[in-house]
Amino acid sequence: MHEPKDKSSDKTLTVVIPCYDEQESLPTLFERMDALVQNSEKLSPKIEYTLLFIDDGSNDNTRKLIREYASQHTYVDFIFLSRNFGKEKAMYAGIEHVHTDGMVIIDADLQDPPELIPQMAELWIQGYDDVYARRRSRDGESWLKKATSRWYYELLQRVSGVAIQKDTGDFRLFDRKCIDALRRLDESERNSKALFSWIGFKKIEFLYDRDKRIAGKTKWNYIKLFHLAMDGITSFTILPLKIATWVGCLVSISAVIYALVVLIRTLVQGIDVPGYASTLIVVLVLGGVQLLSLGIIGEYLGRIFMQTKHRPNYLIQEEHLHR
Ligand code: UDP
Ligand code: MG
Repeated sequence: MHEPKDKSSDKTLTVVIPCYDEQESLPTLFERMDALVQNSEKLSPKIEYTLLFIDDGSNDNTRKLIREYASQHTYVDFIFLSRNFGKEKAMYAGIEHVHTDGMVIIDADLQDPPELIPQMAELWIQGYDDVYARRRSRDGESWLKKATSRWYYELLQRVSGVAIQKDTGDFRLFDRKCIDALRRLDESERNSKALFSWIGFKKIEFLYDRDKRIAGKTKWNYIKLFHLAMDGITSFTILPLKIATWVGCLVSISAVIYALVVLIRTLVQGIDVPGYASTLIVVLVLGGVQLLSLGIIGEYLGRIFMQTKHRPNYLIQEEHLHR
């Protein structure tokens, strides 16, 4: 444990809430957020909260609800993106617009209980820069989702060489230092989970029970997860390219050896015509390896292409910010 800092120093904290079609969850979220903000006034050191809603192109009443809520409270800000850019970009929009001493990212569906924020802030005040919430349990998620997410963490950890926090979502508190660091990483193919690990700083884990979604349904599907996983891997390592090289070397060496064998056998035993099976196998195997390698190169090339276009990560339609 680090020495606690001056208890009297008040801090400002922004809670960033990415929302995409969350009209069912918002009323409860507002209530629980209000409670959080009001309770903080009694605590010492005082934490002054700002709520920053990032609407990621919702098609339901989410925007209307947020606009109304913001008109009733001075501590509520919002940014409406011009369309759905995905949670990664929505979070980045938050990171780029936070002006406070710290920020917390929390899901709108209340899977991450806002009541835990004061405890996270406690650790922050003690001097930690990145307080990440780790799930003790994952209610309401299938065995398959849990297992795939575990394998993915394992793989990402191995290939990236940075310690990736397991069972950690995006529910975390960042100090200003981390926010500034994250802003400098303006990669177009973002994988926040890996970037959050990559920046380093003084991290501490915080165990919690992840609740079920209170309403609506998850926007995740396996295709999205697959893309996220590919981004994670390709943005952190060129290992797949190296594997392609190794496989290429191995195949070439085997080919030379096999060529010698065939040559010697032909010289010794004369020409032996039936060679259909072996020819076919060689053609198929080589063809497969070549296509796979091209695909791997393509994955990287595509990402270089996206990055060189320097397109903005998101576009803003409407904003309401107090600063
Ligand atoms: N979200 C978003 N943009 C999207 C998809 C999701 O901003 O394209 C938000 C969503 O409103 C929620 C959070 O990201 O606040 C987590 O989404 P979800 O609950 O669908 O994911 P899960 O909890 O199942 O991982
Ligand atoms: Mg959720």
